[in-house]
Amino acid sequence: MIAEEIRRITEALPEGVRLVAVSKYHPAEAIREAYAAGQRLFGESHAQELQGKYTELAGLDGLEWHFIGHLQTNKVKYIAPYVGLIHSADSPRLLEEVNKQALKAGRIIRCLLQLHVAEEETKFGFTPDEALEYLDSGAWQQLAGVQLAGVMAMGTNTDDTARIRDDFRRARLFYERARHDYFASEAATASEAGATFSELSMGMSDDWHIAVDCGSTLIRIGTQIFGQRQYI
Ligand SMILES: *Cc1c(COP(=O)(O)O)cnc(C)c1O
Repeated sequence: MIAEEIRRITEALPEGVRLVAVSKYHPAEAIREAYAAGQRLFGESHAQELQGKYTELAGLDGLEWHFIGHLQTNKVKYIAPYVGLIHSADSPRLLEEVNKQALKAGRIIRCLLQLHVAEEETKFGFTPDEALEYLDSGAWQQLAGVQLAGVMAMGTNTDDTARIRDDFRRARLFYERARHDYFASEAATASEAGATFSELSMGMSDDWHIAVDCGSTLIRIGTQIFGQRQYI
C-alpha cells in the first residue's frame, strides 16, 4: 500500500518536484516501509515526535527530515542539529531562534517563509505584505545560521478548486518576486539567479495536482501515502 502510493505519486511528478512523505502520527514502522520503497525525504510537525523518530531510525542511511508544522521557539533546539529544511518559518522571532540554535550546532539551517494566502483565519504565517516587509528590512541577512530557501504555503481547505488554484498562484507570484528582488544578486550568472532561494512548498493529499500545476517544487503528502492519522 505505502510503497504503491509512493510509486504512484513520484511517477506523476515532473522533474524538479520532490515528494515529502508526511509521517506525523504514524509509527517508525511505516517510515521503514516507505524507506524500503525508496523514499528518503520525510516531514514531521512536532519537534519531540521528530526527535524520537530521528533517534529510532538513525541507522537508515540517507534519511532527510523536514519540519513542516508550527514550531514553538522553545522546541527548536531539539531539531536544530539535524533538520534538513524548516518549511514553516512563520515569524521573525522564530527565525532568530533557529539562527541561534543553528550556530550552536555549527550548522546553517535552510528555512522557507510560510506565507499565509488561504482564506482561513490562522495565527501562523506571514501575509504577503508582512513577508515583503521582513525581506525589505534585511534582518534575515544578519542571521548567519539561517538560509532563506524559498516559500511555503497552504491552500484554502475547500472543494472549490478555483479558490485553491488562486491561493497557489499568489504564493507562486510572491515567490518569483522575492527571488528576483532579494536573491538574484547573490548569483554569479543569470542562469543561477536565485539559486539559494529555490523551493516552493505547496500541495497536500487533496490538492497536490493543482500545486504542481502552479509551480510547486516540494509537495507534502501524508494521508494519501500512510492512510488516516491516529491522533492519540
Ligand atoms: C499534516 C500536514 C500535511 C499532510 O497533509 P495530508 O492531507 O495528510 O497530505 C502537509 N502539510 C502540513 C503543513 C501538514 O501539517
